[in-house]
Amino acid sequence: MSFGETTWPTARKEHRCDLCYGPIPKGEKYSRWRGVFDGEWQDNAMHLECASSFSDEWQWEYISGEGDMPERIAKLVADRQTRSALALNGNMSNPANDKI
Ligand SMILES: [Zn+2]
Repeated sequence: MSFGETTWPTARKEHRCDLCYGPIPKGEKYSRWRGVFDGEWQDNAMHLECASSFSDEWQWEYISGEGDMPERIAKLVADRQTRSALALNGNMSNPANDKI
């Protein structure tokens, strides 16, 4: 037995999309489904793009993390990786370390 409801709240903190495992940025409107699917309580957040890839008939038949990230999210993730790599390099060439 399955039942539930979909809402479209605005993210008050960052969430993870259950379909593509990409980040759902804070302040973004996302799709949230809460209910019981196959006897298990679910509370899933998804990008609007990811959620819109479902038809009503097979709406929640998917494998978590198997979806493709929307392009803008893939870009966001790549940007973050670049930034954290830069931050790491920055720490290693920190002028404070040069004095030792
Ligand atoms: Zn997604």
